[in-house]
Amino acid sequence: MNPSHRADSGFSSDAERIVQSRLLAGRYALDAELGRGGMAVVWVGTDQRLGRTVAVKTLRSELATDETVQARFRREAQSAAALNHSSVVAVYDTGEEVLDGVSVPYIVMEYVEGRTLRDELGDARDDGQRMPPGRALEIIADVLEALEYSHRAGIIHRDIKPANVMLTPAGKAKVMDFGIARAMADASANLTQTAAVLGTAQYLSPEQARSEPVDARSDIYSSGCLLYELLTGRPPFVGDPVSVVYQHVQEEPQPPSTLQPQVSAEAESITLKALRKDPLDRYQSAAQMRADVDLALAGHKLGPAPPRPQEATPPPLPPTTTMPSPTIDGPDTNGTESHHGRTRPRMRWYAFAAVVLVVLGAAAAVGSWMFGGRTDTVAVPTLTGTTTTQARMALDSSQLELGKTSLTASDEVPKGQIIAQHPEPAHSAAVGSTVDVTVSSGKPKGGIPDVIGERVAQARTTLETSGFRVRDLEDTDSRKPAGEVTRVDPPGGSVVPKGSLVTLYHSTGLISVPNVRHRNEAEAQAILTAAGFKVNKIPQDSADADPGTVTFQIPEPGTHRSAGTRVSIVVAHKPKRAPTPTPEPIPSPAPTSSPVPPPGPSPTPSPSPTGPWLPLPDLPGPL
Ligand code: ATP
Ligand code: MG
Repeated sequence: MNPSHRADSGFSSDAERIVQSRLLAGRYALDAELGRGGMAVVWVGTDQRLGRTVAVKTLRSELATDETVQARFRREAQSAAALNHSSVVAVYDTGEEVLDGVSVPYIVMEYVEGRTLRDELGDARDDGQRMPPGRALEIIADVLEALEYSHRAGIIHRDIKPANVMLTPAGKAKVMDFGIARAMADASANLTQTAAVLGTAQYLSPEQARSEPVDARSDIYSSGCLLYELLTGRPPFVGDPVSVVYQHVQEEPQPPSTLQPQVSAEAESITLKALRKDPLDRYQSAAQMRADVDLALAGHKLGPAPPRPQEATPPPLPPTTTMPSPTIDGPDTNGTESHHGRTRPRMRWYAFAAVVLVVLGAAAAVGSWMFGGRTDTVAVPTLTGTTTTQARMALDSSQLELGKTSLTASDEVPKGQIIAQHPEPAHSAAVGSTVDVTVSSGKPKGGIPDVIGERVAQARTTLETSGFRVRDLEDTDSRKPAGEVTRVDPPGGSVVPKGSLVTLYHSTGLISVPNVRHRNEAEAQAILTAAGFKVNKIPQDSADADPGTVTFQIPEPGTHRSAGTRVSIVVAHKPKRAPTPTPEPIPSPAPTSSPVPPPGPSPTPSPSPTGPWLPLPDLPGPL
């Protein structure tokens, strides 16, 4: 289809012609106007750099000077740009072009060849046709898939309606204008033409109609309105905008099958559940609703349709509702009479709406009110997995603040990362409100068990069962029996994160032999005994060493021996003076046999301090 055929929205203003004549960002040429909505003009264009056809949405020139609208347009464009899903019209780029000193923000999107559901439904209505119920369910399944995805990303659409769903020639539905409804809300307050904006009241959720905070379940309600229209050819509530707002809040929809008998019990049940007034009674997520749609498409039976509440409680009214009953009951925009009778609460609601009209002073402002534009709420961004610094930045750009921070231990989430948040992602929160977070304090902590004195294998098991990692090292200075735990680092009783490394020292059963050389005998005895050794004294005559000092020891200092090993010390003695021999007559010639060596120590020269030959002491084990 030639897109220029869809340029049915009248003429571009002069300002818009200037926009069209410019190459945006030096690369996007605007070829023809595709259509226009409440806030923007949509063009089919060419990305000259990539040589592809694109759709470009520019802020309407009459709104381009409004800084608030501009800021919203930019912010929302950025959040939409983060979405990448086959059921979402892709946003490729955003930017702004300064034209005559005025900055015009724009969004470059995937150009969807096809028609919006609004056009499809309009044509079908004109031809007196209805969409087959199965087709309606297929379309809503695509829409719900897109919502499931965007809600996970923390983006509430807020403006699900036929004009925001494109049908490709292959029949696939693609949702567009994600999050842009926020900007629309601002825009509507400045518009002189409000018809386009007011038309959207037909898909508003009751909470939007009441200007209350909205969350993902508001999109479920709007999807219910869309499904209702796909099934029956008209939205659930029709009439003038104020009446439609009233009905969203207060009236029950007519079951779709009463308008279109072909509608199955399943399709009806799904539609009515999505349209429940209280968000808690609706599907709680797009995924839940889609699961039922899939079941219905597969021909399965669903549970019975939710019972209709007997009497809805009228919403609280502002104090100004004592006004006389007004008579705002304009023509039905769809040419269909509202089937609901006038009730007392309805009258009061008209009064409320009238007061709002008077107070705000302009029909355009009613649009803003209807859009929830006065309720400055934002979707809560996903903070889990970020640090509090990152969270602060994310919240700042969503006009929210970081609230209470609490700590909790976690096996999985690294220390300092956010584990949970309240409100949760995609829920709505008032601008300026706070989001509380729970931050991981790292692994849970535990006290190290006292395992000193245990056998090393048993101590290892005890520590590992308590969640610690263990390594063991030898303690070569302990007199404890080999294999006994002598020391734990960090010591028993310390509180450390689970999974920390704990070092066990276990006795080798061997102790280091102290150096007692040059000490006097008594000192040497004391030192060796204190270290766990037995002492074996070897007296030796020495002319050089101080008498009573240790000249040598075996085993050598620093070697390791088991406790109780005997250490030999050589203690110097002053040599005794030998008695002067009395000359004796030389006996008769001795026999010529070898002389017998005298008894006593070896005739080796006097011992040197470094290497004497000594009688080996009684040593257990090798030296
Ligand atoms: P609202 O202002 O409430 O969003 P709207 O959805 O009708 O109203 P726009 O979103 O500005 O207005 O879109 C105007 C029209 O431009 C759409 O109805 C559609 O026909 C066309 N259009 C928008 N985006 C694309 C696109 N990506 N590809 C093709 N056509 C598009
Ligand atoms: Mg749109």
